[in-house]
Amino acid sequence: MDYKKILEDIHQEILPFADKGHQADYIPALAKVDPDQFGMCLMTVSGDTYAYMQADTRFSIQSITKVFALAMCLSLKGEDLWKRVGKEPSGTAFNSLIQLEIEKGIPRNPFINAGAIVLSDILISSLEDPEGEFLHFVRELCGDRTVDFNMEVALSERECGYLNAAIANLLKYHGTIENDIERVLMFYFKMCSVEMSCRELAKAFTAFTNFKPFDYAGFKLSQSRIKRMNAVMQTCGFYDEAGEFSYLVGLPGKSGVGGGIVAIYPMRYAVAVWSPRLNSKGNSVMGMKALELLTTATQESIF
Ligand code: GLN
Repeated sequence: MDYKKILEDIHQEILPFADKGHQADYIPALAKVDPDQFGMCLMTVSGDTYAYMQADTRFSIQSITKVFALAMCLSLKGEDLWKRVGKEPSGTAFNSLIQLEIEKGIPRNPFINAGAIVLSDILISSLEDPEGEFLHFVRELCGDRTVDFNMEVALSERECGYLNAAIANLLKYHGTIENDIERVLMFYFKMCSVEMSCRELAKAFTAFTNFKPFDYAGFKLSQSRIKRMNAVMQTCGFYDEAGEFSYLVGLPGKSGVGGGIVAIYPMRYAVAVWSPRLNSKGNSVMGMKALELLTTATQESIF
């Protein structure tokens, strides 16, 4: 498959979408990012890499971080994790409160904010140095020790994070989180603030293609667990647009409001794409389109 040519063609085809959508501005530090950027990187399990445009520019991974947190929590807690958080698609926005109230503080899945706040609580309770171990894990996955939190972004989100604070309060009220709310929120915002490039994300996510046993920084997952993580990405990775992403792209994946999307073609490759302008559901406009064109051109999807 000539991925190099396919990526070049995709970029030409998505140019008409270049000014569609708006970058996230509810996190003030993200509003400063130049919205007119695009990068893409596809990495196969054998390490062949096809990088295009700004594939080496780091950006805020935001909710993509929830996949790393889920992997750590599943490794620590196994199936018991699902007593604290569900694995059903939410059909609601990533920061919705309504369902959480009705369902008495058990988040629908680990990829909406409520679910990831619970993951943050679990990591704080289970690890001596949650920040250090989280970074170590992500650095092992992508093979770069300079990957780090961006504290300006984390603090900027904390300053205006009224909805996430409301979610954390509701979780605490229902006894779903154990630790101090401020501590849990700050850890969650730090995880979201991690900056990585498309190349680093593609490398990190090849670990979730399931082509070899998962064992990074002491966090181990069986191939069966990785398979199930992919199932959760497929059904919940794009919030209330999970159906649309499944329909158009047909791969498990995860998006973030920094404009990044990572998708997995099981046993074969991981692909990361980034462009800051988002649609109304908080997913990158050009990113979604690029991945739709990729699986159309290659006929490589899970369906
Ligand atoms: N940090 C962001 C938030 O909590 C993550 C949201 C996202 O990327 N969808 O709102």
